[in-house]
Amino acid sequence: MYEGPSPVRNGRRAFLLVSNIRGGETGNIQAFKQTEVSRVCQGRVHATIADRRELAKTALTPGELIDTSIHLDESTEPVTGQDMFALTEICHDGFIELDVRDIARMLQARPGDETESLFACADRIRKRFVGDSVHIRGIIEFSNYCVRNCLYCGLRRDNHKLSRYRMTPDEILTASQNGIQSGYRTIVLQSGEDPYYSAQDIALIVEGIKSFRDVAVTLSIGERARSEYAAMRSAGADRFLLKHETADAKLYQQLHPGASLKTRVECLQNLKSLGFQVGSGFIVGLPGQDISTIAEDIALLKLLDCDMAGIGPFIPHPDTPLASYPAGDVTMTLKALAVARQALPYANFPVTTALSTLRQDGRQLALSCGGNVIMPNITPAKYRALYEIYPDSASLKDPEDGGIREIAGMLKAIGREVSTTKGDTLPKERRSIPTVDSNNHERMR
Ligand code: SF4
Repeated sequence: MYEGPSPVRNGRRAFLLVSNIRGGETGNIQAFKQTEVSRVCQGRVHATIADRRELAKTALTPGELIDTSIHLDESTEPVTGQDMFALTEICHDGFIELDVRDIARMLQARPGDETESLFACADRIRKRFVGDSVHIRGIIEFSNYCVRNCLYCGLRRDNHKLSRYRMTPDEILTASQNGIQSGYRTIVLQSGEDPYYSAQDIALIVEGIKSFRDVAVTLSIGERARSEYAAMRSAGADRFLLKHETADAKLYQQLHPGASLKTRVECLQNLKSLGFQVGSGFIVGLPGQDISTIAEDIALLKLLDCDMAGIGPFIPHPDTPLASYPAGDVTMTLKALAVARQALPYANFPVTTALSTLRQDGRQLALSCGGNVIMPNITPAKYRALYEIYPDSASLKDPEDGGIREIAGMLKAIGREVSTTKGDTLPKERRSIPTVDSNNHERMR
């Protein structure tokens, strides 16, 4: 790995760390050396921020010859605002990977121009990598029983004020069929961690849904043994959501009695290795969390190569030990989403219901900061209010079919559209780097 001091431009400095220059590619290195914008000195490559776009036009093969990370020179004023976000856009030319320090700096974008630049950049990257279509997934909350005792959650085992319910397999299949008839191309089955349903039960339900139509099935049912996940995958389940909640192992343990971040991550890795499209995510505003924790959260999403990630604010539930803590900050939640979009440009990011619960225009806001998925609630009305992770969920206002037509109208009004596909994440091997031409039109190379 090579490292060097940085050139100065507009009073701010940055430099590239260049690693993994492979043997046998001397020709390309020579071509690179000859470019006007590069300065190669004892293996060090320097480039000003404005030069990075030019670098993308050199003979280098992005991501192949050079695997770079951007590091800001600690001795200078931190690069923030427009410059910082210009860097992240160039990241996606294949040269630069954000690291946790860059992520933390971006999360500290100041109110006003900097934050607006961050959001605008996330929106451009969303458009560039996953387009204007919004995937609509119908979610069925089929059991509110939970063996866990997470300190922030109204479904926690020790909340005896909550009436519990379980939907029968027939009820789940009927709700799924109704959702499919309403136009959903993904059915999400979510529950508390409820071992009442065996892996075989879940597998049969998945097979039943798949027999209705070619739809995707996402599971969100908590931690299970690898063999159980394998049975569900064999039955046809396509995706699995398992939020890591917080990447701070100590905080994780405090908030999740008897559980560990290590086990959580192992589950996510098992799911990935079984071929699921894997979603994780975290909560913004948990007591004990700070900016560096959120930066670690985003870095963990990247490390796990998540296909999806849900990022929502903490909302206190009155019947939990965290009842007296304030709700998470909406702007910080949007910043986290915007940075995560830049760190994982191909991933699917849902607009979380928690955000819509705190802000009436939460959906539109999140869609403008990197979001590209909406997950309306299609749980039968008689159960809906009982799935109370936090009170007054915005999903309680959704019509029985989740309001799919109203959503289509809202999307049209903001220049977006309902996706006509199942909304799978593009497999890694089929990803290329979309470029933006001089007329700012999108094209693929
Ligand atoms: S967050 Fe999930 S696992 Fe924890 S108590 Fe709530 S439903 Fe159960």
